[in-house]
Amino acid sequence: MTKNSSNIMALAPNTSNKRETVCIFGTGDFGRALGQKMIQSGYPVVFGSRSLRTSSLIPKEAEVLSHAEAAQKAAIIIMAIQRQHYDFLTPLAEILRGKVLVDVSNNLKINQYPESNAEYLAQLVPGAKVVKAFNTVSAWALQSGTLDASRQVFVCGDDMEAKQMVMDIVRALGLTPLDQGSLLAAQEIENYPLQLFPMWKFPIFLSLGLTAFFFFYCLIRDVIYSYVYENKDFSFFLAISIPNRICPVVALILLGLVYLPGVLAAIVQLYRGTKYRRFPDWLDKWMLCRKQLGLVALAFAFLHVFYTLIIPVRYYVRWRTEDRIISKALNNKTDPFNNTNGWLSDSYLALGILGFFFFVLLGITSLPSVSNSVNWREFRFVQSKLGYLTLILCTAHTLVYGGKRFLSPSSYRWYLPNIYMLSLIVPCIVLVLKFVLIFPCLDKQLTQIRQGWERNPRYSEQSNYIINKSAV
Ligand code: NAP
Repeated sequence: MTKNSSNIMALAPNTSNKRETVCIFGTGDFGRALGQKMIQSGYPVVFGSRSLRTSSLIPKEAEVLSHAEAAQKAAIIIMAIQRQHYDFLTPLAEILRGKVLVDVSNNLKINQYPESNAEYLAQLVPGAKVVKAFNTVSAWALQSGTLDASRQVFVCGDDMEAKQMVMDIVRALGLTPLDQGSLLAAQEIENYPLQLFPMWKFPIFLSLGLTAFFFFYCLIRDVIYSYVYENKDFSFFLAISIPNRICPVVALILLGLVYLPGVLAAIVQLYRGTKYRRFPDWLDKWMLCRKQLGLVALAFAFLHVFYTLIIPVRYYVRWRTEDRIISKALNNKTDPFNNTNGWLSDSYLALGILGFFFFVLLGITSLPSVSNSVNWREFRFVQSKLGYLTLILCTAHTLVYGGKRFLSPSSYRWYLPNIYMLSLIVPCIVLVLKFVLIFPCLDKQLTQIRQGWERNPRYSEQSNYIINKSAV
């Protein structure tokens, strides 16, 4: 290919793109990691430090000066220093006037101080334009380059121009700035890195609680009862049989609990005749963790599948099968083929396979990479329609598994029903309520309410009502 003038122009260095010098106060872990990343992105970097001795850890392309000298060399100063040392800035107030001060600090506890670190910095140096940024990116991630999980940089500040300058740097480093508004948002941004799986706590504790409850329930019903009344030691059930009973039960209850808040929300909206009133806090929180509840349920369903796959290789199962065959052969006895049992067994397995298939499909569509590629209507269709189909299939799987055993007295040891019967309570309540809600008279009214219609318009006069998200 021949080079034409436009190609040569494109390859020529563009002097207008020359990056502005950035000053970093503090040569600690974060300051060095951010400095290195900035140098790689083409920014001249100058460090402001208490010690002018250079170390091999400091990028050699960077200058190390006193705080006052370094600050004079740049319009943007990044504060890679803990909040408790900020008072050294007070004598530098004049030099810092008009400069952009970027607060990257985090705290050790949520809401540790009455005001955010960024607001505190703004009070200490009133002449500077303070911007909060970078606190959710770790020094390790900056150094190792594995930023996939934390590419987002929350930025907030009162000065639009200063915020824009910081967001330009964020983009130049290959990260994604997310404007969170004024400096008032800093407290919330500082709390982000301190939160430990906030949406996962309820689903995980609930599933652990259910697992523990059903474990002791099965221990009493399946092991202790057999020991007391039949003098049989079935303690080995604790390894596989009981977990394989608990997993599907917990999975089904959690799946029911994913759809129960949506149904309750619909009932609340129908009762109030408006969507412009906040749901009770517990319902709001429950609705927010439905995805996590569903994913925990899916994990239990996977465990059930794995436990089921190994059933044929279990010693107890092989022994029981061989024993039955041998005793039939010795007694010269055969059972005629029972068509009903054939149907029940095949339908139970087919419903389980289909239920699990749709459950996995639901799980896949909740992944951000997949949900981002579908529009809101498609996402709702999958999560709502396919979700209910999954719930129906899994409930039917359990009902057919129970089959004739629901009425058998042996299913009620010590008056305790088998746990699969208990697992049907929540999903059946959800399905019955949903069935009632899709009656045209209720469905029509609910649709109108979700489109903004109000039975009692007095609510619209009150400005503090927040629009609830329509339940899926
Ligand atoms: P660090 O390794 O302890 O470094 C802090 C630096 O602050 C020191 O190296 C020192 O630099 C300077 N310093 C210490 N005492 C000082 C004082 N009395 N007066 C003036 N300067 C003082 O801490 P870091 O991990 O780099 O964290 C720095 C800030 O970044 C913190 O606010 C932290 O919350 C935030 N942050 C850290 C990370 C991370 O992954 N580490 C992630 C996000 C945010 P000189 O010796 O050069 O003066």
